[in-house]
Amino acid sequence: MAKIAVLERKCTGCGLCASSCPFGAIDMKDGKPEMNAACKVCGICVKACPEKAILKLETKVDSVDKTKWRDILVFAEVSGGRLHPVSLELIGKARELGGPIGFNVKTVLVGQNVQPFAEELRHWGVSEIAVYDDPSLSFFRADAYAACVEDYIKFAHPSVVLVGATSLGRSLAPRLATRFHTGLTADCTKLELRENSDLVQIRPAFGGNIMAQIVTTHTRPQFATVRYKVMNTPERSPEAAGNILSRKIPQGVGASRISCVSVLPVPPKKSISDAEILVAGGRGLQKEADLSMIQELASLLGGDWAVSRPLVEKGWAGNDRQIGLSGRTVRPRLIITCGISGAIQFAACMNGSDHIVSINTDPDAPIFQVAHTAIVGDLYEIVPELIASIKEERT
Ligand SMILES: Cc1cc2nc3c(=O)[nH]c(=O)nc-3n(C[C@H](O)[C@H](O)[C@H](O)COP(=O)(O)OP(=O)(O)OC[C@H]3O[C@@H](n4cnc5c(N)ncnc54)[C@H](O)[C@@H]3O)c2cc1C
Repeated sequence: MAKIAVLERKCTGCGLCASSCPFGAIDMKDGKPEMNAACKVCGICVKACPEKAILKLETKVDSVDKTKWRDILVFAEVSGGRLHPVSLELIGKARELGGPIGFNVKTVLVGQNVQPFAEELRHWGVSEIAVYDDPSLSFFRADAYAACVEDYIKFAHPSVVLVGATSLGRSLAPRLATRFHTGLTADCTKLELRENSDLVQIRPAFGGNIMAQIVTTHTRPQFATVRYKVMNTPERSPEAAGNILSRKIPQGVGASRISCVSVLPVPPKKSISDAEILVAGGRGLQKEADLSMIQELASLLGGDWAVSRPLVEKGWAGNDRQIGLSGRTVRPRLIITCGISGAIQFAACMNGSDHIVSINTDPDAPIFQVAHTAIVGDLYEIVPELIASIKEERT
């Protein structure tokens, strides 16, 4: 941990520190510098000060004993009466990560009447399924759910806790990380586990310009959220294994400060994340009406259609059809991208697809770095040809 300190007796109030700061993090108050919340502790002001009145102080942080934190815990989310598939993807990833260093995978289930899901989880290679089953947990109330998972973490001491980046998970994980005064990395796209149990949490940062590797070096547990469809679903085992551990509901859960007034079920909606075949259009399309050929090709292939962000910004499609960091992650068996350049914010959320066919006039378009089949050409010629040939084959 580091912070910037100003030695007032040495400071002449020249303001060179404030003008040198690239983050606008220094305010001059009564002729003296004061760091504001934008300070990144980069130390540029330390170098800029001619009086050596600014210091970067490093404080030693005591590390936890990492050997006391073992195994990987996956929060098994039950919402809308089903086990969310992201939980199974995370179990698969956790098994892959934990295997080489001898970590088991455990899960925690919270809700009402969740016992059947605990039985189902015994088929997914976990060593323990902790269950908090109570009428007071029938709806997701963040404080009550967090209290249950906190209780289990204090009992089991997992080194890593993985949570799906769903609406529920995004509400739960930060509360838990705060309760343990530890780190949380949201929306990881890749995870690695070092031999010393440090979890390398990889995700795009600074608008997707870099892939940041984030490590929680001094505290445990290490919390990470991962979106649906980023990791692979493992194979379900026909054999059941793993202990089901019924846990006592922690005191105070019934007295949650959140009360549920009513629950309105959202009508089930098809998501591009669930599509097996996708045809996606980008800024290579010249007008909104041209989206119809993307839709027609998708429908002929029995799939769904999607877009890159510029088309959502133009109002040609809703955000639920957008692939990318600020849209959905997709992993279909086949995706055909038409007139999409392949910016990292787009590509990072579709490059796990089984087969990627990309149509672009620019042979150097970055999309061709992730495409399995590259078609250099005009989508206005290629897409109608594809449509015509499929129709011809079917007549
Ligand atoms: C924080 C942040 C988050 C973002 N999130 C997302 C996101 O979620 N999703 C997303 O998509 N973007 C996102 N972006 C934007 C992203 O950086 C790109 O700007 C965007 O993906 C570009 O979309 P595009 O490929 O459709 O357009 P362009 O980059 O303009 O590419 C158009 C492509 O079409 C090709 N082309 C043109 N005419 C034809 C033709 N007739 N036939 C074939 N090819 C043709 C061109 O050669 C070009 O490669 C984000 C950006 C930031 C900073």
